[in-house]
Order: sequence, then C-alpha cells, then structure tokens
Amino acid sequence: MLEKAYALWHELEQESGQKLLHYTGGLDIGRKDDKGITGVLLACKEHNLEHEVLEPDQVTAKFPGVTIPPGYVAIYQKDAGILEPEKCTLAHYWLARVHGAVTKMNVDVTDIALIEGEVVTGADGRMTLVRLITNDRDKATVKKQNLKRLFCITVVANNAGSSVAPAAFFAVNAVLTAGAWSKELVAKAEIFKRPLAPLPPALLQTVNSLSVERQVVNWFRPLKNPEHYALGRFPIFLVHLHHPAHLNSPSSPQHPLGDLRFYYGFPCFGADGGFKCARYDHFYEKIQPDNLELEHKRGVSTEDILATKPLIETCFPGIQDAKSQEGEIPSNYIRSGVCMFTNTPDGHFVIDAFSAVPHRKPTSNKAAKKGSAPEATTAEPRVVFISACSGHGFKFASVIGQIAADLSCGKPREDVDWLSSNRFVPKLAARNSML
Ligand SMILES: Cc1cc2nc3c(=O)[nH]c(=O)nc-3n(C[C@H](O)[C@H](O)[C@H](O)COP(=O)(O)OP(=O)(O)OC[C@H]3O[C@@H](n4cnc5c(N)ncnc54)[C@H](O)[C@@H]3O)c2cc1C
Repeated sequence: MLEKAYALWHELEQESGQKLLHYTGGLDIGRKDDKGITGVLLACKEHNLEHEVLEPDQVTAKFPGVTIPPGYVAIYQKDAGILEPEKCTLAHYWLARVHGAVTKMNVDVTDIALIEGEVVTGADGRMTLVRLITNDRDKATVKKQNLKRLFCITVVANNAGSSVAPAAFFAVNAVLTAGAWSKELVAKAEIFKRPLAPLPPALLQTVNSLSVERQVVNWFRPLKNPEHYALGRFPIFLVHLHHPAHLNSPSSPQHPLGDLRFYYGFPCFGADGGFKCARYDHFYEKIQPDNLELEHKRGVSTEDILATKPLIETCFPGIQDAKSQEGEIPSNYIRSGVCMFTNTPDGHFVIDAFSAVPHRKPTSNKAAKKGSAPEATTAEPRVVFISACSGHGFKFASVIGQIAADLSCGKPREDVDWLSSNRFVPKLAARNSML
C-alpha cells in the first residue's frame, strides 16, 4: 500500500502542478529492545526499505538538533516525508471535479437505504428515480423488465440556516468514509438495520468498538539553533519514550504502558514556522465527535501543553525552554490544535465491502440444469465502508481512494482482506466473503 500511495501522491503532484510531498527523512527512536523499534526494523527488512540504525552519537552527528538517551537507537529512513494535507485534499477535490465528479458541500447524510426502483441515467451520469417498487405487482414488473436494485441516499441540509434543500440521490454503490462520525452514520442508516449478508454483523460490532479520542498537537519556536529544526535539515520523528514523568500524567499510573509513551512531530514548517509535536493518543480521553466544537471552545489546558515536555527535554535541546519553572508554559510556546483520532482496537484501518442485497436463496443445481431464468437483477448494489483511522490514515489517502473505487466497482482487492472488520470477530471470520 505504501509504495502505491507514494506513486499516487506523485501523480497528484504532476496532475495538479503543485508540490505536495516534502521528503525530510524520518527517525523512529526508542530503546533497542522496545517492540515498536524491533517491529520497525522487521518491517524495513521484510519490505526491503532502505534504512540506517543510528546510535546516540551518530544521531546527533547527523541531526545536531536531536539527542537520544543511552540505550536508545534511531532508525533512519530517508524516504519519509511530510504531505501538505490541505493542499492534497483540495487537489483531490478539484481533480475529481475536472474528471466529472459532482460534489455537494455542507450537507449531512442522514440515511442510506436500499430500495428497488426504475431509474434513468442522464448524460451527466446522474441517476433519477422514475418509479419506486413497493408491492408484488411492481415486483413482477421488476422481474420482467430487469430493473436494478438501488441505493437511495437521502441527504438533508445540516443546519436550519442552510439554503440546501433536502434531496435524495440514487446510486448503485455507496462508499462511506465518515471518519469519527462513522458510528453515528451507521447507527442511523437504514441499510445497516436489515438482515444483510454477510459482513454487516462484524462491521456493526467493529464500528461500535471505534473509540474517538481528543488529540492535542503543540507548536513551539526553537530557542537555540533554529536552523537545526528547519524543513530540509530536520526529519519527521516518532519517539517511544520511557520517562518517569509519565507516571504522574493523567493517564498513569495504572496505564498498561507503564512509563512508555509515543510522540511524533515535524520540522519547523507552515505559516508560523513552528516545531510541531504531540503525544500519540494524548491523554486517552474519549469524546463525542459532535462535541468537537465545544472542545475547541474549551481550548487547551496547561497540562495539554506540558504533555510534550518530557519529549522535548529528552530529545530536542534547541526547543527546550530550560528557564521555565515546573508546571509553567514555556516561553516559546506558539499554539495548539485540538482534533480527533478515531481508533480501532488494533490500530489498523477498517476496509469492508459487501453486497447490499439481503440473503437470497441460492439457485439449486437442479434448477440451473433445467435452465430456469436467473432472478431479474442487474448490477449488484454494494456498500464500501472505510475508516482510515487511528491517527495514521492521511498518508494512505491516495491509495485508499483507489481501493474504494475498485471495491465499489466489484473489483477484488485481496491485498486489503486483512483490513476487513471480520478480524475483530473471530466467530464470523468463517463467513468472510469480501466482495
Ligand atoms: C492531530 C492529528 C494528526 C494526524 N497526523 C497524521 C499523520 O501524521 N499522518 C497520517 O497519515 N495521518 C494523520 N492523521 C490521521 C488522518 O488525518 C486521518 O486518518 C484521516 O483524516 C482519516 O480520513 P477519513 O476520510 O477516514 O476521515 P475524516 O478526515 O475525518 O473525514 C470524514 C469526513 O466525513 C464527514 N462526515 C461525517 N459524517 C457525515 C455525514 N453524516 N454526512 C456528511 N458528511 C459527514 C466529516 O465532516 C468529515 O469531513 C492525524 C489526525 C489528527 C487528528
């Protein structure tokens, strides 16, 4: 997936005529024997990824802005980098439109339902419902005329003041990517309430197990040697840090990770030129996605800002404000951002595709031999559900878009079978039949 993602980001850069991906190199830092570090090494070897293992003095020699404690190593991969997400999203959006996509902004999908009906497709590719099939007489006509079963996606304006009138859209396939709102959308969509076969029970359980967590990222201004932290000189990083301060943090001391936490960050970049860093999962604080607005109003606390202090004081001397008192916000603090991580139990994505047609009796061999007519349906409606989540989905957005397109057209993608929600429900695994 990673290789394809890179290729597609480059393609997007070419087609949109913009620089979207900056190669900075990346460091995975941690104790030599930490699972995270041995796992990265294994992945590098298995997938033949170019890498170097650096001891503490070698890390500082290569990147003077970084220090790592004795017993730690850094795995350096030169092909890591930064995407500019706003630019990438806009480029995808505009190019989709150039290629004929019809987009609707500021509308709230309130239902997804399976209906049977007769439709006509216009020159612009849009489907219009001519007749809804609701009774036996209609059903007989369906059989005779070989009509399609269709999804009816009902879209209504998402706030009272909006000028968008409630509207319904018709399509053979639907791809659901509601991010942190997946649980809400699945709960209200009628299509998930039918006895569908065979994935939805696993999918429903998986969607219900998604946890949405508050995430805070902080930006700081370098106080010493800013050139060491500049884009082009400084890598992106992931640090697996054991630190006594973690035992006093809000998620400790009962936390299963003990004194280990994960951090990540980027070189100085963007409008305010700040050094961005965050504690992965922050304080493991579950929130309701619809409350994000309130979360923004709530703002950030001193504790949120100090969450990255153990990282900075251990690894990035030029960012550390050595003069700040215990519990005090450092003088070089610029700002914070609050957003959400949507996490699966194993930290990987969920990619599911299934037929939306309820269980049908299989045609018996006997009937088939007699040459009886097959049921009068054409393209089989499908739903593709994707949650590219757990805080590391953006880099894969390019390839996930392609996977979504393939799956919704019925093209098999065995390479993503392992991301099906069935993995969380062993009892249902036997019934796995990804389309
Ligand atoms: C602080 C932070 C840092 C991150 N850092 C990285 C990183 O370094 N690298 C990386 O690869 N990834 C990173 N990620 C993760 C990445 O941003 C996500 O994995 C990715 O955005 C998930 O994409 P998505 O399309 O599944 O969901 P989203 O991007 O959340 O999109 C879902 C969309 O669906 C819309 N929606 C929801 N319900 C409805 C409805 N009923 N009707 C209409 N629209 C609806 C929402 O408004 C939203 O626009 C980070 C995330 C955060 C929060």
